[in-house]
Amino acid sequence: MPALPVELLARNGGMMGGMGQTGLRPWRDGWAEQLLGRPCVMCDLIGVRENDWGSRVFKGRYADAYLPRSGSVPGYTVAVWNGRHVPEPTQISPEEAAGYWQETLRVGRAVEQGFEHAKMNYLTLGNNVPHLHTHIVPRPLLDPAPHEPLPWSFLDQGRQDESVFAAAAERLSAALA
Ligand SMILES: [Zn+2]
Repeated sequence: MPALPVELLARNGGMMGGMGQTGLRPWRDGWAEQLLGRPCVMCDLIGVRENDWGSRVFKGRYADAYLPRSGSVPGYTVAVWNGRHVPEPTQISPEEAAGYWQETLRVGRAVEQGFEHAKMNYLTLGNNVPHLHTHIVPRPLLDPAPHEPLPWSFLDQGRQDESVFAAAAERLSAALA
């Protein structure tokens, strides 16, 4: 019987066989429960218009979108699946998935029209909060990593100027009304 990847991993002392990757770590404690939605900050977010983290700019049938106060990228928006807790887009029905992506793209179009960008990025990751959501990121014309993924710190570190943030939230909400 061929060895399982985990057995190969153990045999190589935590190195991916032949790839020379070191520093591999397990996912955090309680991850399996978090995949099931216990607890889930995004399930708790559904129905909230405004909180310390962000401001809702769109309320759809399948997705709600928020402008987060964090980071330093104007127009950075997060579309959140507003139904039952699921970690993966494969775990909703085809009709729900079509609705989710259509509404996410509707928000993306408004961000595209409202904020300067060299390229739009759509990131459906869920590596920290495993509830289906998509980061909609207008990549700035002057960018810390052109042609590459944006370092996460530009999205989650620091806080946007509140008056600029409020104006952006109002503009985006109006565009999506
Ligand atoms: Zn959830």
